[in-house]
Order: sequence, then structure tokens, then C-alpha cells
Amino acid sequence: MDHNDPTALLAWHIAMGADEAVWDECVDKFSAPAAALQPTTGPAQPQNTRVAQPPQQQPTGPRRVEAKPVQAISGAGQAAAESIAAGCNSLAELEAALKDFDGGLLKRSAKNTVFADGTRGAPLMIVGEAPGADEDRMGKPFVGVSGQLLDRMLAAAGMSREKNVYISNVVPWRPLGNRTPDHAIIAMCLPFIRRHIELAEPKVVLMLGGVSAKALLGTEDGITRLRGRWKELGIGSQKIAALPAYHPAYLLRQPHLKGLAWRDLLAVKRKLQSL
Ligand code: URA
Repeated sequence: MDHNDPTALLAWHIAMGADEAVWDECVDKFSAPAAALQPTTGPAQPQNTRVAQPPQQQPTGPRRVEAKPVQAISGAGQAAAESIAAGCNSLAELEAALKDFDGGLLKRSAKNTVFADGTRGAPLMIVGEAPGADEDRMGKPFVGVSGQLLDRMLAAAGMSREKNVYISNVVPWRPLGNRTPDHAIIAMCLPFIRRHIELAEPKVVLMLGGVSAKALLGTEDGITRLRGRWKELGIGSQKIAALPAYHPAYLLRQPHLKGLAWRDLLAVKRKLQSL
């Protein structure tokens, strides 16, 4: 990156998750009155008094939106997500609804809503965590390095997204700075991925990584404890066999665990053959 190029610097800050400019001093946005959050164009205020005093003249800069506590955002977002997802009767409707949904800052900072890839109606549905930079750019899940490893593993087991695998994520928008999605975001996205599974009607769901397994199973257990143990997902009227497994990105960092991941994939194959 060219450190003297302001555009490159700005792009780097955005990619790292910097989503707003801040003042030198801290402002408690949850308790400050809205007026105090607007930029002033008048003379500089003495430090520590700006929040308490109204601006001296009408602001002319961009209006700052008053931040809502996370609880309020997730509660309202989750309720809206639940009713919108429940109203969708096909994958196409769900995809359109998700693209239309106000997913807050996360959605606004993403280039794409990453819905799914692979074969609709496939017996196996894989659910990952959230798109990374490559997925965000291309609008498809698992197309970066970890996706390539996943494709190679599927191929070795005689499966592929072109033939018999459908793939999505719990969170359809790339988290800022590639962070692990927080509870509020997951709670907001959960009704969509649950409805997604219900409409896709797979015979088996493979949950890749702790975020996916914990969100879908509603547990706080870690992936090391969960992986390789069959569970049942109760979604709508369906009961779907579901297996937690290591995320391919984790396997790239811990290659000695690939044997266990391979074992899990073969277990999925056997389960599909038995259903
Ligand atoms: N990791 C995920 O969990 N999902 C993707 O789509 C890409 C990387």
C-alpha cells in the first residue's frame, strides 16, 4: 500500500473496520443528546464541555446518526428478520428479501449480499460463518482459499457444488475487518439462515466452524467438543441430520486436523447414502 495515497489509506481503514471518523475526545453516544452529536462549525469548544452545550449555530456538515444500544438494534432487527423470513415461500423470495433487508452497518459496508452457491435442492447443505473479502467481492460463498480447500475435499469424496452440494453462511455480509460476527449480528441473521435451510430442504446439513454450529444448534459449546457428533436440527416441521465440523480456514492453519475433517466428510457421505 502506498502510504502517501489518501485513497489507498482510506480503503485500508475501511477494510480494517473503521466505519466512522471520531473526535479527539470521547463522546458517550448512548446518553448524549442528538444535538450534541452533530458537528459544529462555530469556534472551537473548550475540551470536555462540547457534549453538554448545544451547538452555537446550525450545523452544515453531514448529520451524525444517533447510535442505538446494540440490544435495541438486535432486538428490532431480529423481530423484523423473523417476520420477513417467515413470509418468504421460495429461495428466490428469500434471496430478494435478504437483499432488501436493512442489515445495518454490516450490510452497508459490504459490497454484496452473499446468499448461496451450488445446486438448489441438493441433499447436502453446507453452512459456513460469513463471507470473507473474496466472497464479498464475487458475491458467492467459499470462493477464497478456504473455499478452494473445501472444493478439493468435496471432490475427493465424490461431491461438488455443481452436482450435489448447496452452500451458504449464517451471516450473508462480510464482517468489518473480517471479525468474528458478534451475538447481535448472528441473532439478526439466524431467522434467515433457518428459513433458508427450511426452504432448501437438504437431507443433511454440514456446519462448518464454531460460529455456524453454535448459532444453528443454540449452544455455547466449542467446535472441538461439537465436531463429529451428529445432531438434529428442528426447523419448521423438519428434523434434519446435522454434523458440526472444522472450518476449512481453521484446517489451513491446523493441517494436522485434516484427517478428522476427512472423517467427518465421509460420515456425511455415509449418512446421505443411508437416508
Ligand atoms: N468462510 C466462511 O465461513 N464462509 C465463506 O463464504 C468464506 C469463508
